[in-house]
Amino acid sequence: RVQLQGIVKSFGGTRVLHGVDLDVAPGEFVSLLGPSGCGKTTALRVLAGLETADSGSVMLGGRDVSRVPTNKRDIGMVFQSYSLFPHLRVLENTAFGLRRRGVARAAAAARAAAALELVGLANLADRFPHQLSGGQQQRVALARALVTEPRVLLLDEPLSALDAKVRVQLRDEIRRLQLRLGITTVFVTHDQEEALAVSDRIAVMDSGRIEQIGTPEDLYLRPQTPAVAAFVGLSS
Ligand code: ATP
Repeated sequence: RVQLQGIVKSFGGTRVLHGVDLDVAPGEFVSLLGPSGCGKTTALRVLAGLETADSGSVMLGGRDVSRVPTNKRDIGMVFQSYSLFPHLRVLENTAFGLRRRGVARAAAAARAAAALELVGLANLADRFPHQLSGGQQQRVALARALVTEPRVLLLDEPLSALDAKVRVQLRDEIRRLQLRLGITTVFVTHDQEEALAVSDRIAVMDSGRIEQIGTPEDLYLRPQTPAVAAFVGLSS
């Protein structure tokens, strides 16, 4: 279970999160959906431990991890830009987190190969990142995030640099994989169709607040504020 409680965060005197509460059940896929600048990425980064909140707590599996650094939080992350190491082959990129944790080379390679298999890239293990398409690079990033078998997967607009067709394909694959692994997932997106397609629940954010959280059906049938109605596409 992933919980944000009363998260407040400012940058240089400007408050960007005004008390964010979020509770994600084990195995659940929750999207943070909202317009650019509403604080989605900041909320995710606080969850990941890449930012420290001014107040509020971050709980993972019932434990307060507010002061636990990112690499000790049992979290896998995928970002918008592929952020692979250009000089490492796909297999080595995927094995990176394991090697850093002291897993021996052969064991790390075997687990990385299994992770690549999960994302359908077993046959490209020897390539370098620049020899892959954008969608393939994001699959590697996903394999790299999953290779340590984290309890939580955080996805920050992982599809937004991809063309429309690949975006839909990879979106559906991420959801299938997430269901198969049962991994608790928080997905940041500004694309309502994307959120509606993959989420168990969607948290609609606006101006540093979660306006409403509910199933896609809830948001469609019972939007509680005009901002939510607008963002699930009811106002157009
Ligand atoms: P986008 O979809 O454009 O990434 P977002 O909803 O994820 O938007 P955030 O990236 O969380 O929004 O940004 C929220 C606000 O905080 C923005 O006004 C942004 O300019 C500001 N902000 C984010 N990070 C920093 C930082 N490190 N220093 C100063 N301001 C920041």
